[in-house]
Amino acid sequence: MRTSAHGAHLRQPRVAVIGAGFGGIGAALALAEAGLRDVTIFDSAGRVGGTWQANTYPGAACDAPSHIYSYSFARQREWTRRFAPGPEIRDYLASCAAEHGLADRFEAATTVTAAHWTGRDWELTTSRGSRRFDVLVCATGQLNVPAYPALPGLADFAGPVVHTAEWPSDLDLAGRRVAVVGTGASAIQVVPAIVDRVAALTVFQRSAPYVFPKPDAAYSARLHRLWRLAPALRAAAGAAWWASFELFTLAFWKWPRAMWPLEAAHAALLARTVTDETVRRALTPDYRAGCKRILIGSGYHECFNRTHVRLETAPIVGVDAGGVRTAADHHDADVLVLATGFDTGTFASTLDVRGRDGLTLRQAWAGGASAHLGISVPGFPNFFLVYGPNTNLGSGSIVYMLETQAAHIADAVSRLADAPQQCAIEVDPAAHRRYADWLDRRLTGRTVWTTGCANWYRDGRGRDTHNWPGFMSTYRRRARRLNPADYRLIPLPRPATATGDTRIRHA
Ligand code: NAP
Repeated sequence: MRTSAHGAHLRQPRVAVIGAGFGGIGAALALAEAGLRDVTIFDSAGRVGGTWQANTYPGAACDAPSHIYSYSFARQREWTRRFAPGPEIRDYLASCAAEHGLADRFEAATTVTAAHWTGRDWELTTSRGSRRFDVLVCATGQLNVPAYPALPGLADFAGPVVHTAEWPSDLDLAGRRVAVVGTGASAIQVVPAIVDRVAALTVFQRSAPYVFPKPDAAYSARLHRLWRLAPALRAAAGAAWWASFELFTLAFWKWPRAMWPLEAAHAALLARTVTDETVRRALTPDYRAGCKRILIGSGYHECFNRTHVRLETAPIVGVDAGGVRTAADHHDADVLVLATGFDTGTFASTLDVRGRDGLTLRQAWAGGASAHLGISVPGFPNFFLVYGPNTNLGSGSIVYMLETQAAHIADAVSRLADAPQQCAIEVDPAAHRRYADWLDRRLTGRTVWTTGCANWYRDGRGRDTHNWPGFMSTYRRRARRLNPADYRLIPLPRPATATGDTRIRHA
């Protein structure tokens, strides 16, 4: 464990962290760094890894360079490649947890189904019984509930139906006819990874994505030796990646029109890589680059030059035992792969979370998911989100955002631990309202995400509840430390009779 920069706290709040991915492990590490030792991490999976233990489909890898897709305090890893494959990232996360003493804080294969604020603390209902904690950190991610499309007849399909996020380890695709539904970030990785193995492959595309080749490369032993001798060089490489992504964010939230060179580059790329003109046209997106996630992955477009691969753009009208139907065609298939993404409207509200006065998170978010800096919600004392609403990025390092949230949470829990009497901490509704209004102004009508495509960022009302409309560094400046004026410390143990909310004093 890294040594605490802080002195001993007056008390050690019991903290539950739900989720053992980058967000949850990062939050637990930040709490430990702040000298907060009573932390328990729950995950329904049997091992650490979050999205990287769930997504094991062929070709799963990160589309952000590992130099920035890693914790700032653990960048000294010798990644095998510039863009590490999924299993390597999962092992990295597990080793970070083990090296920092979190292994015995991890309760694997334990699903938390409900949490309610008792007035003093949080009572959690888990698959192994009920538990109580002072603080609840929900780090379940934005992309953890696989979305199954409502295709008529799906249940009649005779072969395996596999969602990319639930890939069976023993699925053998050799010599099979495979239908892939969807052309998002998962599909463009799985398609080139299986194309050589299968007898026939049909990709069902509803809308064409922007896909650019991944500038990937294996790191040689010599380069690792150089970086060991001169760590500043590695840090410089990471800083260069970070700065270029930071600059690129501008095109997402401020100057969508600046995307045109990318669109032109994509057209040129298609002209170079796809031989059939009709297929090339079908693979050309009809919306502004960045409105949906820009995809980075090699070999996807080239697959459509292969004789056993077909791109189908007609809508799917149904599925039967032998394959997939469009209005004009029947595509025979032995295996159906659903690369159809995630249910992104839920955030943590898949859990039954009840805050003060029985208010549920679903009720609080009836008008759309919203959290102060994506972290805290009025009416939910001692409750924090990691990768909550409006903390996703079009370009950059999610790990950087998660570390910022972890620092904020550690700051909040430290204040609880050091308060002269036992307290709960809750964001002030007026502070949150000001923040939400600022966010709405930034998101309305000027970002690339609202330029007229269907994407998973916007909710039923058309409001973007996922993306951060600014620089990563701006978010860090605003969120790294809790602004005491934005929160209230509420004395416990008699919240029902406590009238004197205590504004936090500046340290
Ligand atoms: P996604 O980007 O949401 O893509 C889902 C695809 O399925 C889309 O092409 C969508 O079409 C299509 N689709 C959904 N329902 C359909 C239906 N009923 N009929 C036909 N097509 C349907 O999902 P994803 O590829 O799993 O990626 C989700 C997110 O996960 C990404 O945006 C990214 O943030 C993350 N991810 C990251 C990496 C990485 O390398 N870091 C890798 C994989 C995933 P439309 O586009 O027309 O809606």
